[in-house]
Amino acid sequence: MGLNPFFYFNLLFNVTGDLMNILVINAGSSSLKYKLFDMKQSLVMAGGVVERIGEAASLISHTVYQGDLPRKIKLAEPVKTHEAAMHRVVSLLIDPETGVIEDMSHIDAVGHRVVQGGEAFGQSILIDDRVKQAIEDNNPLAPLHNPANLTGIEVAGRIFGRVPHVAVFDTEFHQTMPEKAFLYALPYSFYETHRIRRYGFHGTSHKYVSTQAARLLGKPIEATNLISLHLGNGCSVCAVKDGACIDTSMGMTPLAGVMMGTRTGDMDPAIIGYLLEQTGLDITELDAVLNKKSGLKGICGSNDLRDIHEQAAGGSRRAVLALDMFSYQIKKYIGAYMAALGDVDTLVFTAGVGENDEIVRLKACENLSVFGIDIDLEKNKVIRSADPFHIHTPGSRIQVWVIPTNEELQIANDVVELLG
Ligand code: ADP
Repeated sequence: MGLNPFFYFNLLFNVTGDLMNILVINAGSSSLKYKLFDMKQSLVMAGGVVERIGEAASLISHTVYQGDLPRKIKLAEPVKTHEAAMHRVVSLLIDPETGVIEDMSHIDAVGHRVVQGGEAFGQSILIDDRVKQAIEDNNPLAPLHNPANLTGIEVAGRIFGRVPHVAVFDTEFHQTMPEKAFLYALPYSFYETHRIRRYGFHGTSHKYVSTQAARLLGKPIEATNLISLHLGNGCSVCAVKDGACIDTSMGMTPLAGVMMGTRTGDMDPAIIGYLLEQTGLDITELDAVLNKKSGLKGICGSNDLRDIHEQAAGGSRRAVLALDMFSYQIKKYIGAYMAALGDVDTLVFTAGVGENDEIVRLKACENLSVFGIDIDLEKNKVIRSADPFHIHTPGSRIQVWVIPTNEELQIANDVVELLG
């Protein structure tokens, strides 16, 4: 019988189930986000972002979560590379004024957010050279994200040396989807040769709120059915059966599904060829329109729901239309996933819009009594809460919860689960 590989791993890295401080890193093309967790208490100690890396004036925002109120420090200084950014983060974390740990040896493991894991990764994984190669192999599927995520992994590997590094993929939660849900009705060879399929995104968020929902319902996650609605600037809906994803609204890329702040969501694919012919835009320009100038912004000029409500209250027909379209599309996904799931315990609203916008929540669930979904108007009014709250009536067959998401904590949890 072979020994568990973690036996050797634990000897090598002295990981004996006592992982205390986990640094979570999300490296973008010109930014580096970080959060340091004390996992003994599931508490965030410090976090922040270095933005505009490589520009003359980079911006650093660092927050220390100790004492009664978070302490925010803002700095503007040149940060030339991701490596320099990571060194700066370490210096902030250990500085007597801004820090929360004595020195780097108090970081026990690093969790890396990676956007596209493709079919290679159905779960989080300890990073080695083969994993890095597999992430690179997925670069064509996420050219804006995976190379930057990999840079973060390389840089952190050099700086934090031999502590374990774990990759957590946005796509991994969705790898349980059956073929009938993830395939597009294109020639099958496109899937085999070009890996064209639905991958889904926001997986760490859907996983986090699903786990929380099961806990709140007092059911094991393996016996919980739910529809998770992550509505932020990017939006995705996920059907979860017995704790596993069986379908999700985003597709091969995060452009598909419900209309979003600036992204189209689902549309007739023939529109693209037609627009290329009619407008003279090239494919790069059109891609920018679909990703950055469409969605709510395309309809009414703003992608922020707070502005849109203000405009609507001031009589803007387009703002009202944008709200109607958005809520209607969410409602259609709820209906579709109720049909896909059959039996649903709860709907969960999360992310910037889902957690804060009572009107979108209400409109998306309007007239769904026939499906057993009834919203309590008073409970739905709670709009600022760090804790989960439910908004269904006592008679509602299906519960409806608002659960603040915490993608970084989910990444840290995955690290602990994998290494612990
Ligand atoms: P991202 O997808 O960028 O992570 P978030 O989940 O933070 O986005 O969501 C950002 C969006 O949440 C904003 O664009 C805005 O539309 C919405 N939002 C944030 N706060 C509120 C609020 N108090 N009321 C309504 N909508 C809000």
